[in-house]
Amino acid sequence: MTARLTYLDYNASAPLLPEAAAAMTATFAMSGNPSSVHRSGRAARAVIEDAREAVAALVNVTPSQVVFTSGATEANALALSTGPVVASAVEHPSVLAWSEAEAIPVSSDGVVDLAALEHRLKEFPHAVVALMLANNETGVLQPVEDAAGLAHACGARLHCDAVQGPGRLPVDFQALGVDTLSLSAHKFGGPKGIGALILRPGLELPAVVRGGGQERRRRAGTENLAGIAGFGAAAQAATRFLQDAPRVAALRDALEARLASSAPQARVFGHAAPRLANTSCVMLPGVSAETQLMRLDLAHVQVSAGAACSSGKIAPSHVLTAMGASDADAKCAIRISLGRDTTEEDINAFFSAWLPLALTAAA
Ligand code: PMP
Repeated sequence: MTARLTYLDYNASAPLLPEAAAAMTATFAMSGNPSSVHRSGRAARAVIEDAREAVAALVNVTPSQVVFTSGATEANALALSTGPVVASAVEHPSVLAWSEAEAIPVSSDGVVDLAALEHRLKEFPHAVVALMLANNETGVLQPVEDAAGLAHACGARLHCDAVQGPGRLPVDFQALGVDTLSLSAHKFGGPKGIGALILRPGLELPAVVRGGGQERRRRAGTENLAGIAGFGAAAQAATRFLQDAPRVAALRDALEARLASSAPQARVFGHAAPRLANTSCVMLPGVSAETQLMRLDLAHVQVSAGAACSSGKIAPSHVLTAMGASDADAKCAIRISLGRDTTEEDINAFFSAWLPLALTAAA
């Protein structure tokens, strides 16, 4: 019998939804290039435009505002390549890679310092400000609407990396008041390797991937038909998962309550800030994330250390050090992220594997 897997790493990637898999499979029999004018080309084009409508509806925009990209990394590049970029200190590496100015600090709870942003905008009035919707490591939510107001008052743009939002929070482009917003399908049940940049009406940005006229000349290259089809299906399903959010929140809160009572030396990052209801970033003093991950993996429990994007090597997370954690403490933090298939049994499996580490460390 194969052991039961406990997957608590939804912020790294969520399992593919059956409806996304079905939508992708249906495209494998389609031979046409979506740019071809014949019947087969038009059939492929229709799949893309249907998916565009679903993605647009997910974030309350019109379909012409959606540019399909190879993922959020590319969407972030498209939004930020015109710089200068003023980013918060807790952004994803695919955003920080574009930022030359010193990052905007965050509080010990991981929330961006708006006064520092306002001050920095005096130095860079025509900047592109990058502020994420929810942090991938801690789940901490950012005051995106307020930051957009500050940016616009100076003539700057605001880019929001909203990758961790869909299916967990309503993501309304218009209500956020941002200029650009990036999405990634695999974080909410779509396939890996497909995402989108949403543009405010009237805003055009120079293409990063240049060549053919696809995506209204905003992103060249024959479209990832299967990926786009799967993205559309996941976008349609995302509203359903919003309804499941209270159940996930109750599981996460129960997990944190159990942590506090059985391992009082453990600390949850961003605990006092508004946070995604599925994420818990836990530090166990004196026990490296590597040790925790290995112990958990032996018990078939899967979580991440800080950001999975830098996996292979576990360096202290820039997010946690920006929140004031020492390098040593940041190296002892793991991220537990729940999702649609998470059950109480998964939380129990986590505890049975993890608690002995906490008890040994405390002894
Ligand atoms: N931004 C955030 C907040 C993320 O969590 C991730 C995925 N780790 C990305 C961007 C990159 O997305 P993608 O995998 O689609 O390139």
